[in-house]
Amino acid sequence: MKKKGLIILFSLVLIELVIVGFVLLKPFAKTANVETSQTKESTEKLLTSTTMSSSNEKTKKEAKWIESDTEIAFPILMYHSLAEPEGNSLKVPPKEFEEHMKWLKDNGYYTLTPEEAYIVLTENKKPAEKIVWVTFDDGYLNNYTEGFPILKQLDMKATINYITSKLGSEYYFNVDQMKEMKASGLISIQSHTVSHLDLNTLDDARIDSELLDSKQWFDQQLNQDTSVLCYPAGRYDERVISSAEKNGYKMAITTEPGYAKKSDGLFTLKRVRVSPGYTGDMFGDFLLASQP
Ligand SMILES: [Zn+2]
Repeated sequence: MKKKGLIILFSLVLIELVIVGFVLLKPFAKTANVETSQTKESTEKLLTSTTMSSSNEKTKKEAKWIESDTEIAFPILMYHSLAEPEGNSLKVPPKEFEEHMKWLKDNGYYTLTPEEAYIVLTENKKPAEKIVWVTFDDGYLNNYTEGFPILKQLDMKATINYITSKLGSEYYFNVDQMKEMKASGLISIQSHTVSHLDLNTLDDARIDSELLDSKQWFDQQLNQDTSVLCYPAGRYDERVISSAEKNGYKMAITTEPGYAKKSDGLFTLKRVRVSPGYTGDMFGDFLLASQP
């Protein structure tokens, strides 16, 4: 009798396990079916869009923010054109840029979005031990053709400060390319004003329009709240700073050398200019030497 009872009990448990297992695994089986029944192209699209929509939230949710007792200072790298220098110290060859990004990745650096940089600066906490904000000025086409593939391959983020009057020029990337980069979740497009004039030489009304018209264009085209202003040629004065604040920017980046920190002011953030001629290790030495 006792033995029979045990066998019945055992069978009941077994049946229950099978049912529970079936219920738990069913959703996975369904997903797998859906994916295999679709064409390869649409599956790829589905996967990309899932990664894209979650990538921003993911960085915020998954990243463990580290609080700091001392003021956080970090490098904002400044690049322009990714091309052979030919005597122009603002141009960095794509191969060198790739070595720089690889060095950062290999050395455990986390690349910030503007939103993350703002949190670092205002709340004095960081999403990783080593952080860096990669920025490009102007919006050269080679940022899209040469830089974007490298960043995609390494899964690293960067911000490109674009001059809106360059739209339509063959040397600068276009709206579709801009949207494609933004949609990757890796590239943020921010403002380098409308006409790239030395802002400190303009009258108040022109300063306002240079800052506001470009911000409104990005806000509309990219469906975002454009928060970063990059001063053309690094030129600004008190009037420029108040105009930036008044017109909705949260931060502005300069060409003054050094690591960025809140005590310098959110509208006068320093950057580290990257010149041509650095291999990966040389770049690493240079970056550490620029530390405050
Ligand atoms: Zn510029």
